[in-house]
Order: sequence, then C-alpha cells, then structure tokens
Amino acid sequence: MEEIRPIAPTPELAADADARFEGIADPVEQALAVLRWAGETFGDDFAVTSSMADGLLAHLASRAVPGVHVVFLDTGYHFAETIGTRDWITSVLPITLVNVTPPRTVAEQDAEHGPALHDRDPDLCCSLRKVQPLAAALAGYAAWGSGVRRDEAATRAGTRVVDWDAKRGMVKVNPLAAWTQDDVDAYIAEHQVPVNPLQEIGYASIGCAPCTRPVAPGEDPRAGRWAGRGKTECGLHL
Ligand code: SF4
Repeated sequence: MEEIRPIAPTPELAADADARFEGIADPVEQALAVLRWAGETFGDDFAVTSSMADGLLAHLASRAVPGVHVVFLDTGYHFAETIGTRDWITSVLPITLVNVTPPRTVAEQDAEHGPALHDRDPDLCCSLRKVQPLAAALAGYAAWGSGVRRDEAATRAGTRVVDWDAKRGMVKVNPLAAWTQDDVDAYIAEHQVPVNPLQEIGYASIGCAPCTRPVAPGEDPRAGRWAGRGKTECGLHL
C-alpha cells in the first residue's frame, strides 16, 4: 500500500466524513468512497475485518485500497468451510490477511475454564476469543471497517457510514451500512465474489460452529447466532 502520512483519528474527523458520505445514494459508490477516504486518510493505519461469511467487504476494500489489511478472528471454533473461504478470498483478492488468534488455544481455555465455555458463559467466551483479541489487533490502527448493515437487526438500525469508536479511540467505517440484502446479492453475482458455501444450506449469518445454526426461509438472518442463549451480538460492534 502507498505510504501515507497518518492523520490522527478524532470524533470530529469521523463526523465530518459521515456528513460528506451519508448523502451518496448509490450503495456501491458510497461504500467505495468511504473506503477510499479511509485509505487515503489513514494509509496502513486502516484495516477492515471479515467473518469470512463472504468476500464482499474485502472485495470492495481491495478495489478502493489495494493491499488493504483484512483482519480475521481465528477463534479456533470456526467451521472448516469458513477457514476455506478465508484462504479462497486471500488467494484471489489483492489483500493482506491479518489472521488473529486468541492468546489461549481452545484446549488451554478448556483447562482453565472447563469444556464448552460457549454453552455456559458465551459472553466470557466471546470476550476471551473475540473481543480482547480484536482490541489487541486493532491497537496498532487508527481506523477500522466492518461489514455491519442497518437491515441486519434492530440493534444495527442506527449504524453510521463513518462513526467514532469511543471504546477504542478510533474511527470506524461501516461501508455497507445502507446496503440491503438485494444490494449484497447483486454485487456478489456481478463480481463473482467468493461466498462461504454454508450460506447455500441456510447459514445466513456465520460465526463459530458451536454458536451458529442455519435459519429457515424468512427467519431473521441473525436468529441462528447463539440461539436459545439470550445473546445476539458478540460485543465487537457495541
Ligand atoms: Fe465462543 Fe461462541 Fe463467542 Fe465463538 S461465538 S467466541 S465459540 S461464545
């Protein structure tokens, strides 16, 4: 990626950019404009994250910022199909994969907390295997991007395209905030974006294997995450 003198992230910078990009009506143009701005503003201090449900955000980010860092949380609990999708995306897109692993393996976590912590205390498990490792991985960046969309859940309805992540003291961009499922499907088909094969068998939202089940047609796409455990978010986007 081109060397760019980094600019310090501030809430004002985020608010100005959000006001500038919110009015772009075309979802693809809006996403590319936001990503280009982040790359031009923060250079190598900008990264996007991906759950490897598909390569949509990585595809857009690599168009706007060739060589962009794509952070994947390799929790140790992923489906083989998700790891395969990660490797597929890395092999066909001009990205730099940043594979983040928790400090403890699953076996080490089981030894310390007992087996299947995800069933007994999913908040602690997510904290140990997702939230804390992402915080450590993002500590070296000034801005990060996620694939969060407003239409995914009521908790995400207020998502800004450019926001201030007060918890981490970073700019957070959400280039897909205004996208609908139809926008996603159209872009993936047009650009032949890699998609996790689990989507074909009903996994509308894909996380760790013990905490993800397929959903029925018409069911809330996130209903398959932590089903029956009173939890809908891992905490990364709160
Ligand atoms: Fe643990 Fe489940 Fe969270 Fe993955 S999604 S970190 S297995 S609780």
